[in-house]
Amino acid sequence: MNAPLLTIVVPCYNEEEVLPETMKQLCALLDELNTDNLISEKSKLLFVDDGSKDQTWSIIYKKGLEDTKIKGLKLARNVGHQNALLAGLFAAKRHSDCLVSIDADLQDDITVIREFMNSYSKGFDVVYGVRKERKTDTFFKKHTAQSFYKLMQFMGVNLVYNHADFRLMSRRAVEALEQFNESNLFLRGVVPLVGFQSTSVFYDRKERLAGETKYPLRKMLSFALDGVTSFSVTPIRFISLIGFLSFFVSLLFGGYFFYLKFSGQTQTGWTSLIASIWLIGGLQLIALGFIGEYIGKIYKESKRRPKFVVDIDTYNLGFPEEESFAPKEGEILIDYNPLSETN
Ligand code: UDP
Ligand code: MG
Repeated sequence: MNAPLLTIVVPCYNEEEVLPETMKQLCALLDELNTDNLISEKSKLLFVDDGSKDQTWSIIYKKGLEDTKIKGLKLARNVGHQNALLAGLFAAKRHSDCLVSIDADLQDDITVIREFMNSYSKGFDVVYGVRKERKTDTFFKKHTAQSFYKLMQFMGVNLVYNHADFRLMSRRAVEALEQFNESNLFLRGVVPLVGFQSTSVFYDRKERLAGETKYPLRKMLSFALDGVTSFSVTPIRFISLIGFLSFFVSLLFGGYFFYLKFSGQTQTGWTSLIASIWLIGGLQLIALGFIGEYIGKIYKESKRRPKFVVDIDTYNLGFPEEESFAPKEGEILIDYNPLSETN
């Protein structure tokens, strides 16, 4: 059997500081795996530029001219890590037997990709990279991330604990993933839904090689809220439960108040009144907020907007006749724009 063609998909957003080193390490890894006949010599790295404002694309493009292993996909604008990753997976799946996704900052241990390949050769369609510990994460990141996993579990969402988006998927798993047409695609929740045989490989998470996190608190919170509301209706059920509870409590209190009134002990009652107004008002606003969140999701889904738009794709351009793609010395490649093609 031929060694499988592996494509490693790397979403990049303003990663100029770390990219050259990442490319070097990943290229070396591909060479090693190829030497050990674990992957085909046609295996590739696909860097997805998620609308970066710095030199990210020009680094990807230039390196691609020097090394045919390096391919690039430039998105028309920033669409976020999850969508950028999908764009890469979908672009590369046609020519790959299996695909690995990994962050550009190499916080995830690339040497375990070898174990991913071993599991793949044993017949697993999905291999999850799972962090053993979070020694290098800040106290804040560690605790917010862990509460997120716990919250999701509480909400009944099936997540692989401590697994981010470092995973291997076979081509048919990615094809199945493509059939999930939702606009709010939360990969960590959807991949387990795809099914197929899966396994996990454990590793230690490192610090970012260079640059800073592209996930500030604001993005993290919105990611968490998206994850919860696109996968679980528990919050809405919870709200209904609170609604029922307060209804019964108010019945009880109503009885009590009537008793007080008829036994002539009525009080001015301002405190309890104002307290309940605030309490109920608050609860109603929370409830409305949650319901609004779901309605917003329905609104977005109903528009069926594309999750990403590809600007330039050097991956598929290079595949049919690899050699003819290789530029001659001094030649400048014309930007390839799939959108402008009529077919
Ligand atoms: N990223 C992206 N688009 C974005 C934000 C981030 O493609 O809008 C990429 C980023 O370049 C990196 C990965 O997503 O490769 C994870 O981001 P980061 O390492 O900053 O997140 P953290 O590890 O701090 O959660
Ligand atoms: Mg990171």
